[in-house]
Amino acid sequence: MLTPFDALGAAVRCHCPGMGEFDGVELCACPAGEKVLRAHVAGLPVPPMTAEQRAWCVGEIRRFGWTDWDCPEAWTDDGLARAVMASWADYCQHRGI
Ligand SMILES: [Zn+2]
Repeated sequence: MLTPFDALGAAVRCHCPGMGEFDGVELCACPAGEKVLRAHVAGLPVPPMTAEQRAWCVGEIRRFGWTDWDCPEAWTDDGLARAVMASWADYCQHRGI
């Protein structure tokens, strides 16, 4: 899945509780865009989201069923990133993925 975070994500070290590293090579399997979302959630220094990135986050939140949330367009970047991650997790958990 392509995201508007991919270009930035290629240069971002992931902060997931993934598989650590081996010989200096990061072993996590997160897509580039997810690395940026995780960096936002962790409060790490990443550039503010662009309007395109924020709109993509709102689309992901809506796409994965969080349609009853009020006005995510007004949330902070960190809040949007956290909600995207949570909506993905909810989607997977409810489908046994
Ligand atoms: Zn990762």
